[in-house]
Amino acid sequence: MTIRTRFAPSPTGLLHVGNARAALFNFLFARHHGGEFLLRIEDTDKERSTQKAVDVIFDGLAWMGIEADAEPVFQSARQDRHTEVALELLEKGQAYKCFCTPEELTAMREKAMAEKRPPRYDGTWRDRDPSEAPAGAPYVVRLKAPRDGETIIKDLVQGEVRVANSEMDDLILLRSDGTPTYLHAVVVDDHDMDITHVMRGDDHLTNTFRQAMIYRAMGWNLPHFAHLPLIHGPDGAKLSKRHGAQSVVDFREEGYLPEALCNYLLRLGWGHGDAEVLSREEQIKLFDLDGVGRSPSRMDYVKLAHLNGIWMRVADDVRLTDDVMQRLQGRDGVVTDERTRARILAMMPGLKERAKTLVELADNAAFAGFTLPLTFTPKAEKLLGEDGRTVLQGVGRDLAALSDFTPETVDATLRAYAEKHEIKLGSVAQPLRAAMTGSTTSPGIDLTLAALGQDEVLARIAAVLASASTDG
Ligand code: GLU
Repeated sequence: MTIRTRFAPSPTGLLHVGNARAALFNFLFARHHGGEFLLRIEDTDKERSTQKAVDVIFDGLAWMGIEADAEPVFQSARQDRHTEVALELLEKGQAYKCFCTPEELTAMREKAMAEKRPPRYDGTWRDRDPSEAPAGAPYVVRLKAPRDGETIIKDLVQGEVRVANSEMDDLILLRSDGTPTYLHAVVVDDHDMDITHVMRGDDHLTNTFRQAMIYRAMGWNLPHFAHLPLIHGPDGAKLSKRHGAQSVVDFREEGYLPEALCNYLLRLGWGHGDAEVLSREEQIKLFDLDGVGRSPSRMDYVKLAHLNGIWMRVADDVRLTDDVMQRLQGRDGVVTDERTRARILAMMPGLKERAKTLVELADNAAFAGFTLPLTFTPKAEKLLGEDGRTVLQGVGRDLAALSDFTPETVDATLRAYAEKHEIKLGSVAQPLRAAMTGSTTSPGIDLTLAALGQDEVLARIAAVLASASTDG
């Protein structure tokens, strides 16, 4: 049997991390078992399903490196088939027409509530002859759900879960306008797409009981189900905006690498020994459902940032530079030309050691494109007092004399200067760093100066000294 999984998002405008994780699990599971991973866009809610919302899903998945093995299926295009199956159930006597008016349904609900019963459909038309309905009256098609016994699902994550059939009512398959309901459409699509494993959030568990009844009524085999615990906020409450990023686009904007987000989301609900940092190949090799936990996970943004830092350190410098350049585009006081790009690329090995997100990386790299004169942080200002300026003047002269301006020659020059003046290397590096960046952090000073280039270094030193003479 070929294992086939699917990710079936409703295009609502964002790709929530919970859904993104479901996509990842389905993808890894299929790959692990040499099966197929399919994508189905559940776009039957015409009001919410815009092309833009669909693109958000496609872009998000592509960014995460989650690729479907076939063209995506659009649920809305399969409406005729959903109707066909509902009519077949009607034909078989497994479904029936219900002519209840909205008023009757409201009265039914109110009566149930008054009697402290759950507000379920009471089966008014279950055994009535449709000819009893007024001619031309609108109707819905309902499943004749079993009333006795239990529906049992052997869930691959949750274990055996069961519900008494008496607790469920006859769900609607076709609405009065003839459109199929979501619950029904999902079953027909999963069956027709030969889905063997349905993995989705455990908020769908009650749907699964109802869907199982449709499978059984059609005499279809049930797929295996795996209901994944949801992702909560750090405080255990439902993940929401106040906790931080919650959609894939948010994480991307906040400067997380897709490798880090995928790695984190995988580890959030699944474990394999102590394995923390896992490449896609390792994920595929190791992923299986026995490692999926049953309790809800809590989003830990600090841990994600930590993992992101790890992934940034091994990420390609050109890729990181391209990303940083995009983030710097249009920033006040920052020139984003080829020269800035070359400087950032040259410093990238040092820059990426010091940042946890691409946003931080861009902030730390911005000085490469600063226009002169720089503005200084109070700490940097302090380093540029009288002593600092004396150092700048002296070491500036030595740096100007270099004919070859590389990290090595710069390093040798700074050391020689420190030695000659019997000061610590830090006392040379600090004012230089302040003069180059306006702040107190940068990659190694030798790398930084070499990346900026001799002319720029001398210009930045001169700018500080010039402001010193005006100050004085
Ligand atoms: N369309 C559903 C959702 O976005 C998922 C349905 C399913 O996985 O069966 O929540």
